[in-house]
Amino acid sequence: MRMLAAEDRSELLVGAFEHGTGARPTVLAQAPGRVNLMGEHTDYNAGLVLPVALPHRTRVAARAREDGRVTVQSLQRDGGFAGTLADCGPGGPDGWTGYAVGVLWTLSRAGVPVPGIDLVVDSTVPVGAGLSSSAALECAVGAAVLGLLERPVRGGDADLLVEAAVAAEREVVGAPTGGMDQAVAVRATADHALLIDFSDDTRCQVPLHLEQRGLTLLVTDTRVSHALVEGGYGDRRTDCEEAARRLGVPTLRGATRAAVDDLHGERLRRRARHVVTEIDRVSGTVAALATDDREALARANADSHVSMRDDFEISCPELDAAVDAAVEAGALGARMTGGGFGGSSVAWVRTDLVAEVAQAVDRRFEREGFAAPQHLVATPSGGAGWERLEG
Ligand code: ADP
Ligand code: MG
Repeated sequence: MRMLAAEDRSELLVGAFEHGTGARPTVLAQAPGRVNLMGEHTDYNAGLVLPVALPHRTRVAARAREDGRVTVQSLQRDGGFAGTLADCGPGGPDGWTGYAVGVLWTLSRAGVPVPGIDLVVDSTVPVGAGLSSSAALECAVGAAVLGLLERPVRGGDADLLVEAAVAAEREVVGAPTGGMDQAVAVRATADHALLIDFSDDTRCQVPLHLEQRGLTLLVTDTRVSHALVEGGYGDRRTDCEEAARRLGVPTLRGATRAAVDDLHGERLRRRARHVVTEIDRVSGTVAALATDDREALARANADSHVSMRDDFEISCPELDAAVDAAVEAGALGARMTGGGFGGSSVAWVRTDLVAEVAQAVDRRFEREGFAAPQHLVATPSGGAGWERLEG
């Protein structure tokens, strides 16, 4: 069984920075990956989401440069960036550096005096696993800039960081992100999930009390990404917009279940049904957590997975197998999480059963002929920040 640890590799990162740039970094910044507990594809429908930040995070070592130039390297990727912010804009640089340099560019556009900078990145968030390594990268880089300017990630600067990260992913990378990932990467609090209402951007920290409850959030990264359905996310957004248009509401948040059930067009009806029922399941999950109603929590997870599999059609055989095997092995509830078409699932598991459940998923994958998955324990953690490094 492969269990991915959330180790702190700061020393390795500082060493790599010194080796790569010939100087010591002055700031170490970080931002977490995330796992969404309920509310998939609801952010861009002005709905509700309930993500938690992972203990796994992306760290960035940084040092200001006098000459205004920018360099970026990653311990996870070859290549890098060396240039100035004038080399950045909508659509570029392409590849992974677009996420990092893009944030420098959007922060600068927002009026932040971004200095010349050397950046080296290291991450324990699995990349491309639906656990938001992209927002972790953006927010860690943005936090590094705030660190060099001695500005804590709080208040107006936290808002600025979320907006710059979203804008970088949308405009520079060109990915139609809904905004949940960056919000939780910045605003998460340890031991809490973050309830966000995208109709008015209100937020609420939801205590999870996992330790007292004897529960653990077990994430399984299926390690598959179904590239054939690359356009899947955009297609779902288009379907949701068309369904809202036909229903005469600005977003599906404004649609009632009865109106959705009368919607003309079978596919659009199923898409809209997922969104309206999923939004209800977020509220239901928050209520179930408040009263420790484990049956309701289990039902919401089961219904959510079926809704994503059958109505929204964003699951895949590997995710279905991970969810089914986890529940069969005793998980309280499980569902796929993230944008879908591969990526990860999340299960609520009694802490004493975690190894057993993970092993059961591994056995199922082996039996089905799938490549071995990897697991991680999602201890709900805090959001982005930075620290000064001495000497
Ligand atoms: P997810 O956010 O679910 O991990 P995305 O496709 O949104 O998946 O983002 C993954 C991309 O983000 C990678 O392909 C890469 O371009 C970039 N990325 C994330 N983390 C790193 C990292 N540590 N080093 C370099 N690039 C990274
Ligand atoms: Mg992403």
